[in-house]
Amino acid sequence: MAHGILVDAHCHLDSFTKAQLEDLPHGIIPCTSGYSHGSNQKTVEIAKKLKVPFSLGIAPQTVLKEGRDNLGEWMQFIADSSPNAVGEVGLDHHWGKTEEDFALEEEVFREMILLAQSLKLPLVIHSRKAESKCLDVLEDAGWKGPFMMHFFAGTLDGAARAVDMGGIISIVGLHAKNRKKIIGEIPLEKLVVETDAPYVTRNIDGVLQSIRYISEVSGIPEEEVGEVTAENAARFFNFHL
Ligand SMILES: [Zn+2]
Repeated sequence: MAHGILVDAHCHLDSFTKAQLEDLPHGIIPCTSGYSHGSNQKTVEIAKKLKVPFSLGIAPQTVLKEGRDNLGEWMQFIADSSPNAVGEVGLDHHWGKTEEDFALEEEVFREMILLAQSLKLPLVIHSRKAESKCLDVLEDAGWKGPFMMHFFAGTLDGAARAVDMGGIISIVGLHAKNRKKIIGEIPLEKLVVETDAPYVTRNIDGVLQSIRYISEVSGIPEEEVGEVTAENAARFFNFHL
């Protein structure tokens, strides 16, 4: 497929091998995301070297593993690093099992929302098995800014609610009933494409799978899907294509 510049709205370059980083596919801008203090540090280093947009955050899975004792220091690092967004942050009710887990995750998520508010940055949301709960917390915290539901795997109703609240939906290239409905109903202006590489696809050219999927379901030509999703991501992360 012939196309202009594409944007992978969510990947983890800090988890790529050195060889992969030296040989990234051309014509695709990766928006790389941190998820822990260690990952954030590596993300900043790589993003500055490659001059690509990046987001920094403390993900719920990280909080379950590392606790919140050093949260102040971790947040200071995020604030000092001038990221394009705060994330990935949110709730994970797959890895979180108990009420204590959920409470801890929510506490840290709320801290991340406050941080994004004070830095005037958008939020990249991880919402595994907790899509509506994430939206409840955002609403309750009075969040008014832009946010992106990364690797969204919830229902069409959930996606529509997120969009009503000012959010955009990030689409991975994995076929699923709910995802198909979302692509069919949510306007392309509210969608971005991602790989979550190296976890979902191995490399950022996996973004072509997402673009093809959206094109197949919506009937919009691949070229246009690539172009509009790239513009949406650039607007969200505040960079020029
Ligand atoms: Zn991710």
